[in-house]
Amino acid sequence: MPDQPQIIDIGLNQPGELLCDFCAGPTRPICYYPAAVFRITGPAGMDWESGDRWYACPRCAAFVDRDDYTGLQHALNTPAHLVTLAWLPFRVNRQGPPVPIGPGENPEQHRRPTNTETGTEGDG
Ligand SMILES: [Zn+2]
Repeated sequence: MPDQPQIIDIGLNQPGELLCDFCAGPTRPICYYPAAVFRITGPAGMDWESGDRWYACPRCAAFVDRDDYTGLQHALNTPAHLVTLAWLPFRVNRQGPPVPIGPGENPEQHRRPTNTETGTEGDG
């Protein structure tokens, strides 16, 4: 297997598979939240990109829609540092309303590679 550079996504999504970015649980996400990409720097110096779509299963989406990150943290028993590192920046970088995912849809399949986007400069 050749080593290929991979974008490390916090959601651990595999090609063709959608995982909730909050709980990574078995329930299929019902929507995603568009967000500006931000960098996450962990306590051990780990550094990765947030990704620009945050998938959420029904349970997690209900908390996010209520802006109840404390409730979500308690529901998932999530370590506080993860909330500080990922969820709070996500909250700040969220862009617009959630985008619903229909049954059988995979919004990832229409995505373009993020590292080969055309570099046309000067858009105005
Ligand atoms: Zn979830």
